[in-house]
Amino acid sequence: KTGNAVLPAKQPNDVLMLTGCRQNNLKNIDVSIPKNKLTVITGVSGSGKSSLAFDTIYAEGKRRYLDHMSNAAKMQEFIEKPDFDGIQGLTPTIAIEQKKGSQNPRSTVGTLTGIMDQLRMLFVSIGKPYCPYCGVPVKKDSKNKNRCPVCGNLFQALTVSVFNANTHTGACHVCSGLGFQYKVNPASIVVNENLSVLEGATSYFGKLRGKKPTGNWMVGELYAIAADRNIDLDTPWKELPEDFKNALLYGTGDKVYRFQYNSGGRDTEINRPAAGAVAHIQRLFRESKSEDNPWKQYMYEIPCPVCHGELLCPEARYTTMMGYRLPELAKMPIVRLREWIYSLQGLLSDNQRNKAGEVLQEVQIRIDNLLQVGLPYVTLNRTAPTLSGGELQRVRLSSHLGSDLIGLTYILDEPSIGLHPRDHHRMIDTMKHLRDKGNTVIVVEHDRDTMLEADYIIDIGPGAGVHGGEVVSAGTVEEVKENSLSATGRYLKGEYEWNLSNNRVPHEWLILKGCTGNNLKHIDAYFPLHVMCCITGVSGSGKSSLVFGTLIPALEEAIKNQRNYKKSYQTFEGYETINAFVQMDQSPIGKSSRSTPATYIGIFDMIRARYAKQPKALECGMSESHFSFHSKDGQCPACEGQGQIKIVFQYMADHYVTCTECKGSRYQESVLEVLYKGKNIAEVLQMDIAQAVSFFADVPEVRTKLQLMEEVGLSYLKLGQSIATLSGGEAQRLKLAKELGGKQKKHMVYILDEPTTGLHFQDIEKLLLIFRKLTDAGHTLYIIEHNTDIIRASDWMIDIGPEGGTGGGKIVASGPPDEIKKNTASITGRYL
Ligand code: ADP
Ligand code: ADP
Ligand code: ZN
Ligand code: ZN
Repeated sequence: KTGNAVLPAKQPNDVLMLTGCRQNNLKNIDVSIPKNKLTVITGVSGSGKSSLAFDTIYAEGKRRYLDHMSNAAKMQEFIEKPDFDGIQGLTPTIAIEQKKGSQNPRSTVGTLTGIMDQLRMLFVSIGKPYCPYCGVPVKKDSKNKNRCPVCGNLFQALTVSVFNANTHTGACHVCSGLGFQYKVNPASIVVNENLSVLEGATSYFGKLRGKKPTGNWMVGELYAIAADRNIDLDTPWKELPEDFKNALLYGTGDKVYRFQYNSGGRDTEINRPAAGAVAHIQRLFRESKSEDNPWKQYMYEIPCPVCHGELLCPEARYTTMMGYRLPELAKMPIVRLREWIYSLQGLLSDNQRNKAGEVLQEVQIRIDNLLQVGLPYVTLNRTAPTLSGGELQRVRLSSHLGSDLIGLTYILDEPSIGLHPRDHHRMIDTMKHLRDKGNTVIVVEHDRDTMLEADYIIDIGPGAGVHGGEVVSAGTVEEVKENSLSATGRYLKGEYEWNLSNNRVPHEWLILKGCTGNNLKHIDAYFPLHVMCCITGVSGSGKSSLVFGTLIPALEEAIKNQRNYKKSYQTFEGYETINAFVQMDQSPIGKSSRSTPATYIGIFDMIRARYAKQPKALECGMSESHFSFHSKDGQCPACEGQGQIKIVFQYMADHYVTCTECKGSRYQESVLEVLYKGKNIAEVLQMDIAQAVSFFADVPEVRTKLQLMEEVGLSYLKLGQSIATLSGGEAQRLKLAKELGGKQKKHMVYILDEPTTGLHFQDIEKLLLIFRKLTDAGHTLYIIEHNTDIIRASDWMIDIGPEGGTGGGKIVASGPPDEIKKNTASITGRYL
């Protein structure tokens, strides 16, 4: 049934052949991959799958492409060739990754797929403009200008930029195409009503006690108004008279005060009405040039009063195509849009069909492709930053399906992420479709269904980091299954079963009532406490909306006292026993490319302290700071402790080369002369976690934190690797390790988002053990997950659906997995 093709005879024409691969941890291996087939590369995390697929095959593909560009010779010198001896049969290579990177907030599903461009062309060619004021069709006047026959107003001619909110012509002039405006939220100014103004009731004035009574204007206003009204500023905020509080926030109208303030170091006096904090903040926000506008914390967004969030100029908003406006099409789920687009064919006149036929067909194909990759619920105006990594990857993939190019090598990174088991076959069909057009498809994947459908499997391992990097087995599914050495083979045969469920029965509940965020249909959710609970459902059903969009803000308000201005629930109860909660999602950690696993989990300080105590360091007067590559004391001056130097190419992403001064070590030579147990600090940073565990075996405070990283399946990370290189799944597990190594409160709630991302089934077992330990200690776990092994091992599940988008947003079933298995209404149940 699986129809796996047998690997073709190993002739160079039929295979992509690599010899002597040594990139990262690869152990000088030879690999051959059948061309025009679907190949899965699998293995435990850190075994070397990406090193082979991305850092060798894709990197070489990219390098060769540059080779063909004119004047690229200079770039060539800088771009290091991946470490291998030979490659034969490599065709142009396209990588479709999950990495979100920093997404332009203006890019949307519509722009990424090109569908928006085509709809704009359709609107220009067959759209019908109306007058926004009179609602009548606009006509060409004698000078061929668009004019309203009733009010006589002139309108711009329709061009593609009129329909594009990212152009000056097309953007709404009030909000500049943002769709909203920023307003000050007065409630955000007061942070603690129990404190007095002097003690810091407002974050705006801050703590004033002990400071000079002249500061900025606002402080001047404060004292002047207080003196005038005889107010004691030591009174707690909540006991202050309302009119005084209003005066501070909203000003005093025309009433003039004399107040003092400090200007450029000089105390000055001025007479004028007090403007109030809200007006001041609005102005300061507008005038701030800083990228991280510090005043943003006081602002909230209101829909633009003119375009009502439609971003576009009136001409674009009041033009219809067969009864629909562009902004209306942009917010239709793709399935609905498809119905409409297909219905057009019958509605168009011959003339219209002549003008629009080709573009229309192109739109249809692209919309079909979005459905094909399992995104029926997204809308064209959904912005890239709000898509998950998996969704973004599928949008990118869909835009390749329409392409006529053949003979390419596609490399995909775990495309099953974020997909319900029900929808895996769609993704698999998509990859087969790319293959059948005549392309080579290579996919790094842990998903069993995908492996079973692949033409060829390459199992990298056996372990992670230095213990991996070899081909454990390779062949068709049947061949790998028969290989007794391959753990993957045993897994495919179904010889792995975990029975790690504690079968805990919940007695206490967190109760969220009236949830309405995104697609949630006014639902009441009961989250059990002190157990492991999975939140399941097809992609787009509303899992993130419930957990990240509702539960987390509710917990923030209840436990951290953070105000929630856009509440999408009615009531929240049952949180009294919770001491703290931690959200661990797949977002990147921090912004600094200089942080490393060692700094992040807090062991680098301890390691540096060891080095500073070595005789050689004492002799040379070196302190802990010399062993930090962030500090000028010890870092290599050429690369400022980066170990790499950035080269900027025009038209290309920045490229990094190893610093020739320190040879990548990041440190000055004198620092490297200090040894601890025979190794210098740079050598320690080069160790992976597993090596470091034995190296620091006798330093318990360092060792225990490292062991937690091993437990979450990160034994292969290097201590000094830049955190920016971690995948979403790795980042999430690193957060988990840090959290586990920190101070534990009595009852913690842990919230995770697909923690199995990037994990092979062998790693998953370790993760389940950690989860079990946490519930044993009385903590609570909420996990969004599609992996049926994890779901089966949970104590409770909340299944959301039944479908994605508007067809979802309800709780279909909740209870122990064994019960849900029997519930025919639950799609997830069927896969358990
Ligand atoms: P997988 O894709 O199987 O999870 P990787 O290929 O990402 O594994 O990693 C294999 C090994 O190579 C790991 O020990 C990892 O720490 C190391 N590694 C990965 N990328 C780099 C890099 N850019 N520099 C140095 N080592 C790396
Ligand atoms: P899941 O986590 O189950 O995949 P989500 O909660 O992400 O589902 O999505 C539920 C619905 O809400 C989908 O129709 C999705 O398109 C929509 N949605 C999710 N996030 C946003 C957002 N930031 N803006 C607009 N719509 C969203
Ligand atoms: Zn606007
Ligand atoms: Zn250097």
